[in-house]
Amino acid sequence: MSDQFDFIIVGAGSAGCAMAYRLSEDPGNRVLVLEFGGTDVGPLIQMPAALSYPMNMPLYDWGYASEPEPHLGGRRLATPRGKVIGGSSSINGMVYVRGHACDFDTWEEMGASGWGYRHVLPYYKRQEHSHGGQEGWRGSEGPLHVQRGTKWNPLFDAFKTAGEQAGYGVTADYNGERQEGFGDMEMTVHRGRRWSAANAYLKPALKRGNLTLVKGALVRRVLIEDKRAVGVEFETGGEIREAKAAREVILSASSINSPKILMQSGIGPAAHLAEMGIDVVADRPGVGANLQDHLELYLQQACTQPITLYKHWNLLSKAMIGAQWLFLKQGLGASNQFESCAFIRSKAGVKYPDIQYHFLPFAVRYDGQAAAEGHGFQAHVGPMRSKSRGRIKLTSSDPKAKPSILFNYMSHDEDWEDFRTCIRLTREIFGQEAFAPYRGKEIQPGDNVQSNEDLNDFIREHVESAYHPCGTCRMGAKDDAMAVVDPECRVIGVDGLRVADSSIFPQITNGNLNAPSIMVGEKASDHILGKTPLPASNQEPWIHPDWETSQR
Ligand SMILES: Cc1cc2nc3c(=O)[nH]c(=O)nc-3n(C[C@H](O)[C@H](O)[C@H](O)COP(=O)(O)OP(=O)(O)OC[C@H]3O[C@@H](n4cnc5c(N)ncnc54)[C@H](O)[C@@H]3O)c2cc1C
Repeated sequence: MSDQFDFIIVGAGSAGCAMAYRLSEDPGNRVLVLEFGGTDVGPLIQMPAALSYPMNMPLYDWGYASEPEPHLGGRRLATPRGKVIGGSSSINGMVYVRGHACDFDTWEEMGASGWGYRHVLPYYKRQEHSHGGQEGWRGSEGPLHVQRGTKWNPLFDAFKTAGEQAGYGVTADYNGERQEGFGDMEMTVHRGRRWSAANAYLKPALKRGNLTLVKGALVRRVLIEDKRAVGVEFETGGEIREAKAAREVILSASSINSPKILMQSGIGPAAHLAEMGIDVVADRPGVGANLQDHLELYLQQACTQPITLYKHWNLLSKAMIGAQWLFLKQGLGASNQFESCAFIRSKAGVKYPDIQYHFLPFAVRYDGQAAAEGHGFQAHVGPMRSKSRGRIKLTSSDPKAKPSILFNYMSHDEDWEDFRTCIRLTREIFGQEAFAPYRGKEIQPGDNVQSNEDLNDFIREHVESAYHPCGTCRMGAKDDAMAVVDPECRVIGVDGLRVADSSIFPQITNGNLNAPSIMVGEKASDHILGKTPLPASNQEPWIHPDWETSQR
C-alpha cells in the first residue's frame, strides 16, 4: 500500500462509507479509509432479525459504557458503537428515520448555516432508494435501499388503529411530508439483508480501484504540521504506521471516537489536554461537550393470543427462521420486526413531535438480554428533545484507553415529567378498542405503578439508551467558541481537517440517527470536493394546524 493519498477518511461507519463512495466517484482522487473493525460477513450482521447479537459482541462493538449516571441511581448504561465495516449501521436496529424538518431548521438557527430542511432534503433524496415512500418527497435512485415490513402480525395494525382511536392522525410516510402520526415503520433492509452503509456505499465503491480500505487499523492521532493536518498515525498488526493526505483528513469515527481522536491530536479543551499530558494544537473547549442521546422505556403488555414472536423464542424455531433466511432471504429473519411506529406531541403548544414510538410484537429488551415469560407486545417510547447534556473525556493519552462517557441522563426536571407523560399516553393507546382482542395484564411498569413517585422510580430503574449519542464536535458558526466544526465541517483552528458524522449534530434529531449520519456524509462530501451544494428545496413540511391548542 502506498502511504500517499488525497483524502484519508477515519472510520468506515454510516457517514464514512457515504464519503468513501462520493469522494472516490472521481477516479482522479486517491482515497484511503482506515477502519479498526473487520469484516461484516455472516448472518449475525446480515440477517435483520439477528440484530440483538452484534451489539453485544466484542468482535463488532467497542464495548463502551457510561460512567455511573448520577440521576439514574448510579447505573452505567451500555453505549454500543459499531466496530466493523459499516460501523454502527452494521450493528443497529435498521430503523430508518430522517428526522423532522424542524430539526434541521433548528440546526440552522444554532449556527449551522446551509443545513436547514430545505438544504438537507435534496441530500436525503440523493442517498435514498425508497420502496413505498411518498412520491416527490423521497429519493428513488440512491444507494441506500429503504423498505417497509410485510406487517405479518395483526398487532402492527392494532397499534396504528389504536392511535387513530385515541384521536391521533395517521401518516402515510413519516419520512415524507408529514412525520407526525401513526404509521408503518421503515427499515434499511434490501432483498432480505441488512442494508448497512457498507453494503450500500462502501462495497460498490471498493470496486473502483482508487479507494483503499485498511481494516484492523486503529487511528491514534492526526498528524499536524504548522496547524495543518497532513496525515494520520495508525496501528495495524502491532505496527505503528503513517499515511499522508495531500488534501484532507476527515474524521468519521462516531460521536464517541471522533472527539477522542481530536483530543489525542491536541485539539480540545486546553486544560483537559494538559491534564492528560497532550500538547495543545488548538484550544477548542467544545470538543467532547454537548453529548446528547435518546432514552427509552420498554412498556410491555401481555398478549392473550399466542401470536407474538414469543412462539419463536426457542432454538428450533430460531434455526428454522435462520435456515429460511439463509436459503431464501425471506421470512421473519428478513425483518427487524419494528414495523409500525408513531411520532406524537406530548402537549399542546409543542410545534412538532417530541415523542417517538417503536412497536414490537414481542415483550423483550432491545439487546435481547431478557424476554417476558410469555406472549406480549411492547412499545419503545421516549422523549426526543431532552435538555440534558453530557460530555466525553479522555482517561489517558494512550489511544487504546476507553474514554470517559457521562451523559447526565435525566438531569432536567422536564425529563421526568416527559417520561411520565410517555407512560400515561402509552397506557391510553394500549387501552383502546383495537387492542381489546389481545390485551392482557400490563407487564411493565405494572398496574400498581401509578403515582408520580412510583413512575419516577420505575423510570430511574428501567430507562435505557436508544443508542443515539451525538453532538460532541458540534457544528456552528466560526466565531462560536463552543463550535468544533464550521458549517462546511472544517475543524475550526486547524487546516486540512474535517469531522463529518453524528458528532457534528448541533442538536439530536427526531428519530434514529443512521439516516441523518449518512446525510451528513453525503453533504460533507460536496463541501470537501468544493462542489456547489444541491439546489435548496421549496417543499413545505406538514405541521399540525392546531398545534398551539391541541395535543393530537
Ligand atoms: C445497537 C445500536 C442500535 C441502533 N439502532 C438504530 C436504528 O435502528 N436506526 C438508526 O437510524 N440508528 C440506530 N442506531 C444509531 C446509528 O446507527 C448511529 O447513530 C450511526 O450509525 C452513527 O454513524 P457515525 O457515522 O456517526 O458513526 P459509526 O457508524 O459508529 O462509525 C464510526 C466508525 O469509525 C470506526 N472507528 C472509530 N474509532 C476509530 C479509530 N480510532 N480508528 C479506526 N476506526 C475507528 C468505528 O469502528 C466505526 O466503524 C443504533 C446504534 C446502535 C449502536
